[in-house]
Amino acid sequence: QAKSMGRGHVSYFSHELNEQAQQRMALENALRDALDNGGLQLHYQPQINLADGSLYGVEALARWQHPELGSIPPTRFIPLAEECGLIGQLGHWAVQEACRQLAAWRRQGLQVPAVSVNLSPSDFHNLELPQQIAHTLQHHQLQPQDLTLEITESVLMDTHPSTLTTLDAIHSQGVNLAMDDFGTGYSSLSYLRRLPIHELKLDRSFVSDLESDATARALSEAVMRIGESLRLIVVAEGIEEEGQQQILRQQGYQVGQGYLFSRPVPAAELQQWLQQWRAAAARHG
Ligand code: C2E
Ligand code: MG
Ligand code: MG
Ligand code: MG
Repeated sequence: QAKSMGRGHVSYFSHELNEQAQQRMALENALRDALDNGGLQLHYQPQINLADGSLYGVEALARWQHPELGSIPPTRFIPLAEECGLIGQLGHWAVQEACRQLAAWRRQGLQVPAVSVNLSPSDFHNLELPQQIAHTLQHHQLQPQDLTLEITESVLMDTHPSTLTTLDAIHSQGVNLAMDDFGTGYSSLSYLRRLPIHELKLDRSFVSDLESDATARALSEAVMRIGESLRLIVVAEGIEEEGQQQILRQQGYQVGQGYLFSRPVPAAELQQWLQQWRAAAARHG
């Protein structure tokens, strides 16, 4: 096609391509720079025990404030980090930073039971990951149960030989594994047999339709039963409405997170949120 349009067009297209490639390269370099120089942050979203409203833990979510482009969402920079070989460094940073923060909160007297960190499938190619995690926990005087790693079903679509070895090693150290976005991947059930997981997180696409859609309710109930029979903790993510919380609680979900309780917030704000949350709970008995 381009050829039949003549020379001028060909060079026009390659100019466009060049520009895209250059923008991408610039973004890659900016991400590398952010990773090396403290330009990424973690925000934290509370996870609530639905039975009594107490804090179950917090999920750490990466944030990137680009100096010129502003805030870039993780759905954009995580895939970029995966493609350009930076994901291992990002995962290692997230584990270290989340553990540092948890230890800092506890030193300040703030009771945060545990922190959850999201990792990408390729993080588990790194055979040194279990050792790195053990070292980080020890460095901050934390217990293995203080840390949960969230993985997605794509972890097992990954055929890399180290993945299962690494997951098993992490599990046998006592670090908990959570299956994130459960129900969106495929062949989920066979993964449950093969993975040493502790927690099942119902994807938020099911939660958003709970009140309006009987099928979504039936599916969240089914996921709950699976989790229950495997003795897993079942977590519902993306709870925005009180009505959703009520349905999930009735179905037996132990833990919930979502904008209804709090958006992901910087560490300092979590402290304020938690103080207010606990004060409100004390007032209401
Ligand atoms: P995820 O782990 O499933 O995280 C939940 C996402 O849902 C987060 O988006 C969170 O901000 C959002 N969320 C929480 N509650 C609600 C709600 O009530 N309503 C709605 N509409 N959304 C809610 P976020 O922070 O943009 O992260 C998107 C995804 O990026 C995460 O999904 C996770 O897969 C990935 N991600 C984030 N941080 C990291 C990281 O440090 N490492 C890796 N490998 N992936 C990360
Ligand atoms: Mg997650
Ligand atoms: Mg999720
Ligand atoms: Mg997700």
